[in-house]
Amino acid sequence: MEDQFDIHSNRYSQDTEREYENTLRPLTFSGFSGQDKIVDNLKIFVSAARMRGESLDHVLLHGPPGLGKTTLSNIIANELGVGFKISSGPVLDKPGDLAGVLTSLEPHDVLFIDEIHRLSPVVEEYLYSAMEDYRIDILIDKGPSARSIQIDLNPFTLVGATTRSGLLTSPLRARFGINMHLEYYDMDTLTGIVLRSADILKIECNRNAAVEIASRSRGTPRVANALLRRVRDFAQVKGNGKIDKEISSYALEALNIDRYGLDEIDNKILLTIIDKFNGGPVGITTIATAVGDDAGTIEEVYEPFLIKEGFIKRTPRGREATDLAYLHLGRKRSGTQGLLF
Ligand code: ADP
Repeated sequence: MEDQFDIHSNRYSQDTEREYENTLRPLTFSGFSGQDKIVDNLKIFVSAARMRGESLDHVLLHGPPGLGKTTLSNIIANELGVGFKISSGPVLDKPGDLAGVLTSLEPHDVLFIDEIHRLSPVVEEYLYSAMEDYRIDILIDKGPSARSIQIDLNPFTLVGATTRSGLLTSPLRARFGINMHLEYYDMDTLTGIVLRSADILKIECNRNAAVEIASRSRGTPRVANALLRRVRDFAQVKGNGKIDKEISSYALEALNIDRYGLDEIDNKILLTIIDKFNGGPVGITTIATAVGDDAGTIEEVYEPFLIKEGFIKRTPRGREATDLAYLHLGRKRSGTQGLLF
């Protein structure tokens, strides 16, 4: 099967990759590493809901792609011992679609809506009463005979996921009792995730190699798992099937994976600041226009990692590229300061 995950752009893709991800998805809190605070709190909320025999409050999970939002929502359903249904903002484009999903839920089930910021305003409106009163009003028929009927729903838990929490309307946000932000993973946790995945896939992978893969994974389990898969190919064809430091370094170089795990857009952002704006400071909207993405996505999805890793600095006058960014991209600072003296 052809490679369907573009590691360089960290963009999600096709069905084979989805299946691969599903086999690696932890199913319980104990299998889920990292995000300790979130997991500790969720454990308490889930136990309390179970003890009371009630539905868990609605949960909003936000954070960049690939950090485990879908995985966590699946775990919540498993740990509650209830059914799990999955949908997404763009798929639920008519109130009827939402009504169909909501009426199919059993008591206390978890409904996961991915990309919840992309729900259309009318569908979102329907969701309000469903979340608040477990009830929806549906308009049937057209013209003079149009009338609305009320449908009672089973109590359920909505888990909404978004990479762009800034785009959520405040009425929707207010209806989530639990609101959590997922952070990028540190190296140790990611190394553990690579080793766990290798174990599940029955690949021999030593710790040094796992560290190497983790360090190039942009703090993201999805990327780490995708890299492991690619490195395994190299180990099988060019080596003896086992993944060690040597073969992983070889594979990651051959795949042209950035040493710091930066993806195409990360590098484009840095190059824009450095080459077009002399290292900054430059405003986020200007960067976004130059890169061809929207300012919100840059701010919520890309910038946090670049700041965390020390490639960009936020200043009152805008974003600045750091020395590390210059070094990484092989650029030299130009400008008068250095030249005059
Ligand atoms: P999101 O919904 O945030 O885009 P996913 O939940 O789909 O991310 O996770 C992407 C992949 O990363 C899945 O294969 C999942 O198994 C893996 N993953 C995410 N978080 C963890 C974790 N904490 N421990 C182990 N694997 C993880």
